[in-house]
Amino acid sequence: MNIMLFGAPGAGKGTQAKYIIEKYGIPQISTGDMLRAAVNAGTPMGLEAKACMESGKLVSDDIIVGIIKDRLSMEDCKKGFILDGFPRTLAQAEALEKLMIEMNISLDKVISLNVPDELIVGRVVGRRVCKSCGGSFHVEFNPPKKEGICDFCGQPLVQRKDDNADTVAKRLAEYHAQTAPLFDFYKEKGVMEEIDGTKNIKEITEDIFKILG
Ligand code: AMP
Repeated sequence: MNIMLFGAPGAGKGTQAKYIIEKYGIPQISTGDMLRAAVNAGTPMGLEAKACMESGKLVSDDIIVGIIKDRLSMEDCKKGFILDGFPRTLAQAEALEKLMIEMNISLDKVISLNVPDELIVGRVVGRRVCKSCGGSFHVEFNPPKKEGICDFCGQPLVQRKDDNADTVAKRLAEYHAQTAPLFDFYKEKGVMEEIDGTKNIKEITEDIFKILG
């Protein structure tokens, strides 16, 4: 099963991806996580992406399409995958189409987590993430069992550098300008499913499982 989680920053894509992994055993492919790993490792790609990420801008399509190509060709993607944070531009969506044709696979479902803008800033600023396993929590709405510690792997939680009010406003503007138009792109393909992303985490997971079957 090849699926994509679609939605604004802070809509809950990373949070829900963890539950989909648990149930369906397919890997999460988060371009944001891969870029952060490259930044931390100080690779040339990481150095190029760093400034864009910190200012809330999108990283170039060439870099992103390159890392997706490499990742989708790995063995663990053969049984399916969850795209999280990719594609984010029409050029990326078109590159993905082309790649999937070459690989003889298709996107089964795009799940849009719909959350109004006015809830996004509070969600993102209160987010705490695990650098080790990518687990995502919220100080108020989804606190870990032990403060500051990841429920999934026991490692410390941190606040992402770009999870501040100023950068979120920029990321949201990028989302509306570049990514939101992909909604119609996938709707026309007949794979788009919409979910109310303002419900609680468990209800949203149940809604996703109903769609995925
Ligand atoms: P995320 O973890 O998905 O919120 O992504 C964090 C940041 O990484 C974004 O604000 C962008 O700067 C960059 N990024 C992640 N995925 C993409 C993508 N598909 N296209 C362009 N930039 C991306």
